[in-house]
Amino acid sequence: MIKKEFKAESKRLLEMMINSIYTQKEIFLRELISNASDAIDKIYYKALTDDQLVFNKDDYYIRITADKENRTLTIADTGIGMSQEDLENNLGIIAKSGSLAFKSENEAKDGHNIIGQFGVGFYSAFMVADQVTVISKALGSDQAYRWESEGTDGYTIEPCEKDSVGTEITLKIKENTEDDRYDDYLEEYRLKSIIKKYSDFIRYPIKMDVTGH
Ligand code: ADP
Ligand code: MG
Repeated sequence: MIKKEFKAESKRLLEMMINSIYTQKEIFLRELISNASDAIDKIYYKALTDDQLVFNKDDYYIRITADKENRTLTIADTGIGMSQEDLENNLGIIAKSGSLAFKSENEAKDGHNIIGQFGVGFYSAFMVADQVTVISKALGSDQAYRWESEGTDGYTIEPCEKDSVGTEITLKIKENTEDDRYDDYLEEYRLKSIIKKYSDFIRYPIKMDVTGH
């Protein structure tokens, strides 16, 4: 298992996400669904020029699974997936859009402007989760990898099992606080309304599965 530190810039953005007082934490779901959709797009466009690859519409979807018993929310896609190197490069280092936003940190101490203006992408998961696990298998690879982080301490990457190509992101949802009802992110009606609000235009099916009570 490899244990790595985040780059300084990423670490500070992460800190901001973890301690965020931003009221619209729900946008984390928009960010993760949009990444899932981008990942499926990548297979779709590849299939247009690659004879070996057939894009069979039914095989491409996003699945959201909430497990109330274990307080986990999983966003899975059948997209292009990430190799070990991709996990390292794409999730360990702050995204470009994020870096840009980061420059105006003085006017966005609570992360409010950054989230509002640019969208922070993947790291927004840490607004609602105290642990994030990404299991991914890249198109054309036999080996899957697990990336895991509990925040600013860094992340680990190790080989793991995954049958099909794609990515599964599991959020360990935070416990409720006086100000935030994180439990809501495990409720079907709440998840559906967030999806309707921000992700209505996504062109792949979004399936949902909620267990526990
Ligand atoms: P952005 O989407 O603006 O590039 P993000 O922080 O949302 O920034 O994501 C960072 C990168 O991580 C993406 O560009 C992509 O390469 C990779 N990534 C994130 N989620 C997925 C996913 N579900 N499948 C494949 N790659 C992903
Ligand atoms: Mg994104």
